[in-house]
Amino acid sequence: MDKDQKALFAKAHRVVVKVGSGVLSFDGGINHNVVASISRQMAALTQGGREMILVSSGAVAAGVAKVGLGHRPASIPEKQAAAAVGQAGLILEYELRFAETGLKVAQVLLTRNDLSHRGRYLNARNTLNTLLSWGVVPIINENDTVVTDEIRFGDNDNLSAMIALLLDADLLINLTDIDGLYDGDPRTNPEARRLDVVHKITPAIEESSRGRAGVMGTGGMWTKIEAAKKTTASGVPMVIACGSQPRVLIDLFNGIAQGTYFVPRADKLGSRKRWIAFTSKTFGEVIVDDGAVKALVERGKSLLPSGILSVSGDFEVGAAVAVFDTYGNELGRGLTNFAADDIRAIKGLKTDQIEATLGSWEYDEVIHRDNLVVTVAS
Ligand code: GLU
Repeated sequence: MDKDQKALFAKAHRVVVKVGSGVLSFDGGINHNVVASISRQMAALTQGGREMILVSSGAVAAGVAKVGLGHRPASIPEKQAAAAVGQAGLILEYELRFAETGLKVAQVLLTRNDLSHRGRYLNARNTLNTLLSWGVVPIINENDTVVTDEIRFGDNDNLSAMIALLLDADLLINLTDIDGLYDGDPRTNPEARRLDVVHKITPAIEESSRGRAGVMGTGGMWTKIEAAKKTTASGVPMVIACGSQPRVLIDLFNGIAQGTYFVPRADKLGSRKRWIAFTSKTFGEVIVDDGAVKALVERGKSLLPSGILSVSGDFEVGAAVAVFDTYGNELGRGLTNFAADDIRAIKGLKTDQIEATLGSWEYDEVIHRDNLVVTVAS
């Protein structure tokens, strides 16, 4: 580990750890040794003065074993029912393991809706902060039993990144069944090499991680890269390391390198902007011309009606929308000052034509810079 990374681990006070189904499951059920080892390490770090938050998968895997289904179910009702059975046993097991060290845990089950509305997002944050202030270790999972497509995170990699952003964590550690990110799929390519440090998530990294799903979990490497994009763009580093290595967390905090370290972008995004960029739900899209791309990405300007080519979706004032260039690249996200139909009416116009067109005029900008987060590099 280089000296910057060592300093970061030494200083990291609030840490989110995600454990995936791949490392938690064994022979169709839960790997009790892994649960015990993660709990022991998390407890030791908590008792050493850090605030540790666990995002744990494994509900479906545990349920599959308990009910005796023999394989991960394909149908949604079966998956949701298996999660209901499995989550109870999983949390009980954590409860018992943490209790051996004198610590209490709390079960927090979330859906995407709980974080994509600003009010509920702040509410979830207050509850988690209260738990941490009591010295309780929150154990978070998606509320698999009730989610529908519209309100699901889909995978715990993205959920853990959103939790790291929600709680302004200093670090996200993603524990999986492989010891980091490789430049190919090590299961099929013996030449594949592990990347120890990733400074920038390049298109080549994205490409090679696509389609590499795990057997038991839902994510695989691709969703881990998505999670790393969210956290590093917000100024939070992420590590992918092997969860079955018995001292993985302790070693990391002792300055011993493990897995792959994703270096954060130097500038840390403020909490509201993180929410806009990575947690809010978008209600529509605007496509902007090349002049607007330059203004937004290179010159840090607001989005004006004149640069807008088209709008999709049906949204009200204040909704989060995604901004795209004409090649289909997402430039960023922002909160709009106009409803979708009004943007349709004023797109391409100069700001001094807004009033004549809409009959009223409150804002020059469709998205003001303060409410806009550009997520592509200039
Ligand atoms: N929430 C799921 C579970 O507990 C896992 C989701 C994932 O694998 O990312 O089984």
